[in-house]
Amino acid sequence: MSELHGMGLVELAAGLKARRFSSVEVTEAHLARIERAQGELNAFISVTREQALAQARAADAALAAGRGGALAGIPIAHKDIFCTQGVRTTCGSRMLENFVSPYDATVVQKLQAAGAVMVGKTNMDEFAMGSSNETSYYGPVRNPWDPKLVPGGSSGGSAAAVAARLVPGATATDTGGSIRQPAALCGITGLKPTYGRVSRYGMVAFASSLDQGGVLTVSAADAALMLGEMAGFDPRDSTSVDTPVPDYQAQLRQPLTGLKVGLLKEFFDKGLDADNEQRVRDALRVYEGLGAKLTEVSLPNLPLSVPVYYVVAPAECSSNLARFDGVRFGHRCDKPRDLMDLYCRSRGEGFGAEVKRRIMTGTYVLSAGYYDAYYLKAQRVRALINADFVRAFQQVDVLIGPTTPTPAFALGAKTADPITMYLNDIYTIGANLAGLPAISVPCGLVRGLPVGLQIVGPHFAEARVLSVAHALQQVTDWHRRVPEGWA
Ligand code: GLN
Repeated sequence: MSELHGMGLVELAAGLKARRFSSVEVTEAHLARIERAQGELNAFISVTREQALAQARAADAALAAGRGGALAGIPIAHKDIFCTQGVRTTCGSRMLENFVSPYDATVVQKLQAAGAVMVGKTNMDEFAMGSSNETSYYGPVRNPWDPKLVPGGSSGGSAAAVAARLVPGATATDTGGSIRQPAALCGITGLKPTYGRVSRYGMVAFASSLDQGGVLTVSAADAALMLGEMAGFDPRDSTSVDTPVPDYQAQLRQPLTGLKVGLLKEFFDKGLDADNEQRVRDALRVYEGLGAKLTEVSLPNLPLSVPVYYVVAPAECSSNLARFDGVRFGHRCDKPRDLMDLYCRSRGEGFGAEVKRRIMTGTYVLSAGYYDAYYLKAQRVRALINADFVRAFQQVDVLIGPTTPTPAFALGAKTADPITMYLNDIYTIGANLAGLPAISVPCGLVRGLPVGLQIVGPHFAEARVLSVAHALQQVTDWHRRVPEGWA
C-alpha cells in the first residue's frame, strides 16, 4: 500500500469503499501534514481538525453500512472564498477576519453531501485579486517547489496544498486565471468549468460575470470525479445553467484519433519564455502521436483580453465590494464619529492596497463621464473576443497553448508593478471573458520548475477538455512529480 497522502481522489475513494483504510486514518494523515507544513507554506488560513475528524468518523460509519457518496471519507480543502457555516470565511481579507457565515456555499454543501471531509480553508489573494498570493492579509503562500517562489494566485493556498500533498483535492475559483495559473506554477491539474456550470451561491463575489468555481487536483481523472459532485443547476444562482451534468469519469477515455487541435497563434508570442514554449511543443508532439491533428488558429482580438479584463473586473468588483460598509457585517472601525467616518475608516482599514486600487479603477470606469469610453468599449471588445472563440470552435475541437508565460517567479519580484503582475494572466483571461471551460495540466519542467499546458474547449465541453488532459496523463508522468521534500 502506498502512503495515504500520496493517493489521488480516485484511489482514495476505491480504498475507502473497499475498507482498506478508514477515513479517520486518511484524515489524520493529511491533518498531520497540514500542521507540519503550515510554518513553511502558509497554505491554510483555518484548519478544522475537530470538525474534520467528526466528519471522518461519520463517513466511516456510512461506509461500514455500505453507504456513502462518491467522495465518502476523502479529506479536501476549500478556498477561503467559499462560505462555510460555523467556520470563518475571510476571503484573504482583514475585512472578513471574524466573519462566520450563517450558511454553506452550494459547492461546500454538495461536496459534503458527497461525503467529503473538510480539513480547512486555504489561503488566497485578498478577495481573489492577485496572481501570486501576496495580497493576502494572512501573509503570502510559498511554492512547495521552492519556498522563495510564489505559488501563483489567487488560489495559491489550494494549489500549494495539493502540490505538497497536504490534501488530494481542493476547491478554487477562477475569475481571470486563478485556478489555472497557480496549477501551472505548482505542477498540478486545475480545471475552470464553463461559466454557469458550478453554482456561485455562497462564493464571495469578485467580478460576477467572470467568477467560476472549479477544482485543483493531481490528475484530470481526479478533477473529473470532483467536478461531477460540484457541478449542476442551482436555483439560488441566477446565472447557473440548467443542463444535465454528464458522467465526466465515464467519458475520460475518448480516443484522440482525428481530434482537431487549434494552436493559438496569439499565445506563442514574444512574451512566452523559450523553455516554456519548448515544453508546450513537446506535449503537442505527444498529442500528434496519439492521433490528433494540429492546426494554427488565430484569434485576432485575444491580445486585448488583459486591458478588457482590467476594466470589466474592477468595475464589477467596485459594485460587489460596496456591501462592505462596516454596518451589517465585516470589519467596523473603532468609535466612528459619524456615518461617513464609519464608511471611510471601516473600508480604509479593512481593505488592502490591491483591493483599493481595483475599487478606484472600477469606480472611475463606471462614472458618468467615462462609462462610454471605458466600460462600454470594454464590453464591446469582450463580445468580439467571444466571437473569435465561437469562430475558432467551428474549425477545431479544442484550443491548446501555454497556461503562463513563465514558471513561478520570486516572492516580491512583481509586487511593485501591478501591470507586470497583471500580465501573468495574459493566456488565461480569454477563457473567462468568453465563459469557456479550460484546464491546466503539467507538461514538463523548466529549470526544475513545473510548466502548465492549457486546453480550452467550447461551452459545456468539460468532458472533452478532461479527456484530452487525461490522454496526456496516460502517457506522461509530469502530473505525478512531487516537489522535493514533499513526497
Ligand atoms: N490575477 C487576476 C486578478 O488579479 C485573476 C484573479 C482571479 O482569477 N481571481 O484579477
